[in-house]
Amino acid sequence: MRLNVTRTFTDLGLPAPLLRTLAKAGFETPTPIQDKTIKPQLEGRDIMGIAQTGSGKTAAFGLPILAGLNALTGHASPMTTRALILAPTRELAVQIDEVLRSLSEKKITTVLVLGGVSRSAQINKIARGVDVVVATPGRLKDLIDDRKIKLKQIAAAIGPRRQTVMFSATMSDEIAKLAKGLLNDPMRIEASTPGTTVVKVEQKVILANTKQKRDELNTLLADPALERVIIFSRTKHGADKVTKNLMIDGHEAAAIHGNKSQNARQAALKAFSSGKARILVATDIAARGIDVPNITHVINYELPDDPENYVHRIGRTARNGATGVAITLMNGEERSKLRDVERLIRRTLPVSGELKGPANEGGASAAPRPRGARPAGAAGAARPARGHAPGGQRNGGQRPDGSRREHGPAGKAGPGGQPKQRWNSGQKRAAKAKREAVGAH
Ligand code: AMP
Repeated sequence: MRLNVTRTFTDLGLPAPLLRTLAKAGFETPTPIQDKTIKPQLEGRDIMGIAQTGSGKTAAFGLPILAGLNALTGHASPMTTRALILAPTRELAVQIDEVLRSLSEKKITTVLVLGGVSRSAQINKIARGVDVVVATPGRLKDLIDDRKIKLKQIAAAIGPRRQTVMFSATMSDEIAKLAKGLLNDPMRIEASTPGTTVVKVEQKVILANTKQKRDELNTLLADPALERVIIFSRTKHGADKVTKNLMIDGHEAAAIHGNKSQNARQAALKAFSSGKARILVATDIAARGIDVPNITHVINYELPDDPENYVHRIGRTARNGATGVAITLMNGEERSKLRDVERLIRRTLPVSGELKGPANEGGASAAPRPRGARPAGAAGAARPARGHAPGGQRNGGQRPDGSRREHGPAGKAGPGGQPKQRWNSGQKRAAKAKREAVGAH
């Protein structure tokens, strides 16, 4: 029988200097993912860790890295690093770097290897050798290709002794398979079921045609309970449009998306986290990992193409035991995306509101689902595996309502009976987002 005794950071085997900084940071007890993964990481195991958004994954992988650095003396060799952290977005990389430095009593040398900012400072730091590189994949690949960092040499030098860990709140089968090639005999540790959302986020869906959404948003924002709000838009252009309309309608909003300069992105995030701007309008670049305290509401102006991004988006609220609300504005054409989300999170979301306007506005033909009705294919008592459409339709089949599956390649058999993968642009985007999810949280 396993007794449920709360373990402390000391029990997990962390060294004294880290225990001191943890106490200073107010981290009294390990969160479940920290409790389950820190010790095996200290013992050298490769880990695939799954835990919900806002549940302390940064420290779960950061503390073992810092413990390792604490035990090392001297300086990293020129052009090498002792640890490499990959993050899916620049903002998340910046945040991870800050957390690591704040949790280390010993002065560590870190370098952020990100696109959108000057390469020369990054190259100069790496030339001297660093303890930790925190990188996004694009710029890292640039520097490796240009031989400015010798990762291959590092990997070859440490060979099988390299330790690799990967953490996320979602873990699609594709990513898990990909990870198997990178990790050596990994322990899969789940502090939660992959893809599940935090219970403390109240989730709801409001039906609204594209043209209704602006009014609907204004109605929502009239409520002062929406103190700190992040609004997600599917595209950069859409984010700009929503921001512009918000300004016209008298709201203070900052915007963050991939067409903005890195300085503008960081400035927007800062304005939002400092409370200067009540609203942040963002694309999915802000969906992963960003830990801004006290976001009261997440509003999905549109549903994301990739259902996993829904989980990451709404995970910006209700972090670390707090509560929050996630509201999705959905037009008739987005229904299949909602079904994909519901299948992933294994929950049916309550839908309210009414679609107004002509049928070609993406909705009038699609009558609102009766309250409480289970959507086709949504998880019920018998949890269907992810990616399975109801009725055994797996590969790009038509849904009972005639719509096509949005995710995964259309399953057309190519030569040799192998499914030939044909992707539309939405699927390509979704697949790219998934590839970039390695190490996301
Ligand atoms: P993360 O999921 O890593 O972004 O962490 C979410 C939030 O929880 C951050 O604000 C952390 O500072 C905080 N946090 C992480 N671990 C602990 C802990 N053991 N005790 C208290 N707060 C924590």
